[in-house]
Amino acid sequence: MTTGRANEALSRFAVLDPATGEPFDEAPDQRPDQELDAVVDRARQAWHDWRADPEVRTAALLAAADAVEAARDELAPLLTREQGKPLAESHAEVARTAARLRYFAGLSTPPEPITDGRPVRSEVRWRPLGPVAAIVPWNFPLQLASAKFAPALAAGNTVVLKPSPFTPLATRLLASVLAAALPEGVLTVVTGREPLGARLVAHPGIRHVTFTGSTATGRAVAAGAAPSLARVTLELGGNDAAVLLDDVDVEAVADRLFWAAFRNCGQVCMAVKRVYAPERLHARVVEALAERAKAVVVGPGLDPATRLGPVNNRPQLAKVEHYTARALADGARAAAGGHRLDRPGFFYAPTVLTDVPPDSPVVTREQFGPVLPVLPYRRLDEAVEAANSGEYALGGSVWGTDLDRAERVAERLECGTAWINQHAELSLAQPFAGAKQSGLGVAGGPWGLYGNLRPFVLHRPE
Ligand code: NAD
Repeated sequence: MTTGRANEALSRFAVLDPATGEPFDEAPDQRPDQELDAVVDRARQAWHDWRADPEVRTAALLAAADAVEAARDELAPLLTREQGKPLAESHAEVARTAARLRYFAGLSTPPEPITDGRPVRSEVRWRPLGPVAAIVPWNFPLQLASAKFAPALAAGNTVVLKPSPFTPLATRLLASVLAAALPEGVLTVVTGREPLGARLVAHPGIRHVTFTGSTATGRAVAAGAAPSLARVTLELGGNDAAVLLDDVDVEAVADRLFWAAFRNCGQVCMAVKRVYAPERLHARVVEALAERAKAVVVGPGLDPATRLGPVNNRPQLAKVEHYTARALADGARAAAGGHRLDRPGFFYAPTVLTDVPPDSPVVTREQFGPVLPVLPYRRLDEAVEAANSGEYALGGSVWGTDLDRAERVAERLECGTAWINQHAELSLAQPFAGAKQSGLGVAGGPWGLYGNLRPFVLHRPE
């Protein structure tokens, strides 16, 4: 396994610490024209051996998981430094990366006989696709990368992984850690600014593009892969709604609801991004969430007292500021926050908004930051309709005391995953698939493994 280090001396780009706003290191700005051909070529060569023996792959992936765990004290602080999240959350992300390698190492894809009464022996045998391009965003750099490379490698493909230019460093370190367990060329990390990702997507040697990021870039990725007809899996944006029912115990759920919205500074595709509360309970919900927003300790992720870090990058901070300012200008009120913190770095005060016009962009678009609008509703149907409105359909949740009733409401949510009294709790074993503009294809669990394989049918007389 390699980090695609050729020609590193040619060009590098700065990586900023979001807790200071200052550069603290650099990464290679790899040139697509000069280097991608060689990287994809190596991935294709490595594929011949890697695809051959599932037992060898299983052993290598288990060794890779051990190597990640052994390097957690180097990986986690670097992840916090470039991403901003509290150190404990970086450790959880590293642990999840190792767990995912183990999970996929343990799956198999046995041949499946076709029994339809004909006097033939016919069976489906699952075949890998070839070199896979994996492109990930900056909110969970290691966890999302492993969600792509673990199933792709377990299926017998090789991978070229491109992290976000905002968070290239922990991924590069991960690559050198995994080099002890994986053969050369099986997983290569390339770093650089655009058009590196676009060129990787369009490279004729790539047979599957697995992308996580915004819906707008996802559309560009689908178009970019069209000429080569590479398979495309897209995990895109979300604007998840939490619908509170009139029997909800506000105090009992407030902590969980708060963290479902604010974890990782709200930079979670499946964060709660809008809350619908019955009119009668609305003020109490706003108060309970605002209390928590005011009390939470915001600071650099490496400070052990910190529960919420900075926003990851300047453009994202500008987006959060813009959406919130627009809502406030349109008549919303900040029950907590509503402004940047007066300190260096990309810090934004955890913000709870009330009196927000329902058509405000902070409600209808994905704000992807520490800002939560709480909207009142009169009739439950109105809330469900509002939750289902818009282009996104990733997750959703229903909160109440009568679980059967909550389940009936959850059934009506148009999304990929619906929770009751929690949000964004994910198992490695479950499918992950957004509806509408939130994604294409399925990741996670055995479905994620099969997403990296193609059926090959062998048919012979009995
Ligand atoms: P982004 O779309 O700007 O970038 C994602 C990745 O794509 C980065 O590595 C970027 O460098 C690369 N990229 C940019 N332009 C490209 C192009 N033309 N071709 C190929 N690659 C290109 O997203 P972001 O701002 O980094 O991440 C935030 C978004 O990711 C949010 O919308 C969030 O909801 C989404 N997200 C979705 C999931 C999910 O599983 N559904 C998970 C996490 C984040």
